Amino acid sequence: MNNVDRVIIAGAGPVGCASALYLAQNDIPVTLIESCDSLPEDLRASTFHSPTLEMLDDLGVVDKVIEQGLVCPIWQQRDTRDDWSVNWDLSVLKEDTNHPYRIQCEQFKLTRIIVAELEKMENAEVLFNVKGVGADQDEHGVTLKVNTVDGHEELKGRYLIASDGASSTIRVSQDIKFPGLTFPELWLTVSSKFEFEDHFENLAPVAYFAMENFWFLLLRVPGLWRVLMPSNQGQTAEMLVQEDSVQELMHRVVPIEGNFKIVHRTAYPVHQRVAESYRSGRVFLVGDAAHINNPLGGMGMNGGVHDGINLSKKIVSVWRGDAEESLLDLYEKERLPVATEYVQKTTLRNKAMLEQNDPVVRKARQKELSAIASNPMKAREYLLESSMIASLKN
Ligand SMILES: Cc1cc2nc3c(=O)[nH]c(=O)nc-3n(C[C@H](O)[C@H](O)[C@H](O)COP(=O)(O)OP(=O)(O)OC[C@H]3O[C@@H](n4cnc5c(N)ncnc54)[C@H](O)[C@@H]3O)c2cc1C
Repeated sequence: MNNVDRVIIAGAGPVGCASALYLAQNDIPVTLIESCDSLPEDLRASTFHSPTLEMLDDLGVVDKVIEQGLVCPIWQQRDTRDDWSVNWDLSVLKEDTNHPYRIQCEQFKLTRIIVAELEKMENAEVLFNVKGVGADQDEHGVTLKVNTVDGHEELKGRYLIASDGASSTIRVSQDIKFPGLTFPELWLTVSSKFEFEDHFENLAPVAYFAMENFWFLLLRVPGLWRVLMPSNQGQTAEMLVQEDSVQELMHRVVPIEGNFKIVHRTAYPVHQRVAESYRSGRVFLVGDAAHINNPLGGMGMNGGVHDGINLSKKIVSVWRGDAEESLLDLYEKERLPVATEYVQKTTLRNKAMLEQNDPVVRKARQKELSAIASNPMKAREYLLESSMIASLKN
């Protein structure tokens, strides 16, 4: 694309893709670059919450996501030590959203669906094997330096959206700090066709399990269960993905005879970090480039898509001359507090709840949650929070 009056988006994860589609559908030329040679197919997000589904509905892609995923109207918390469980029925949100459920669908399906749409549009281009390595800017625009298979090049645009993930090169190039913490233990995600529903009565497609000195999540996606669990401290990623380590952890989940058949496995470090700023002039951070958190609650990708749509709406208004450039300052003001005050706190609380070993504290919380779930008004309030609807209200 020769037109330099465009928005450049670095990183074709779910957040970059959603932002690109919103802008292109609103007549803004976009160039979406991706450092890999094709869309990554990693074992990461699988939960889409109601407000994200509404945004995808507006983009015209929600039906495909639903078709390729599973509708999950109920999710569960369980504690095997106390034989306790609570079901969270999202149908109490039917007056609050057109999508009162979670959709369980791998994030790579969303990026494929969106890139297929972008490839049909004249004002959008998607470039693979192009890695953003740094950005300069002046009052006219931004220049993104990229590495391609042919060497170094420069892309010019009016704005740059950095959706290049947690290790964002662009965030680093703008000297924006990313304070927070990294947990000492790695976490492991395993997929298996093993039928966990035969071993846990009334198992919901999303279930958080606490047990003695261990916890895990079971997440259903089409054709597979995914198990998410922490490792022992000191285990490296190489050690953790070895067959023996994977089997040892899986046998803590269900102590079967023999080995589980494992389809995929990934070990990864888990962080809680928020960028000090989401903006450096014409450069904006969105998604994991701006904030990362543990996956308990399924808020990273969802919150990232909310960032991307929030920012893109503002860019459209400014581009069309319907608003002053200063509107773009609101992006950080609106979205950064959601990351610090809501997503970070909720995901840390979810982790602490699973790790709570004090029986008195644990049982008091269980009693409280059971009481909330059995009262439709209180359950609605709880689910407005956990499904991230409340995070978009302010
Ligand atoms: C096990 C696990 C489970 C999770 N489950 C959930 C869940 O259920 N729900 C949820 O909301 N979140 C979940 N998350 C978090 C979620 O995966 C991330 O928040 C989400 O992927 C962030 O999307 P993104 O587009 O910002 O970044 P990414 O998905 O990381 O995408 C960044 C893209 O940029 C590309 N890239 C990187 N550097 C450059 C560069 N310099 N130039 C060009 N391209 C570049 C990368 O190749 C990648 O394609 C989970 C995470 C993990 C690890």
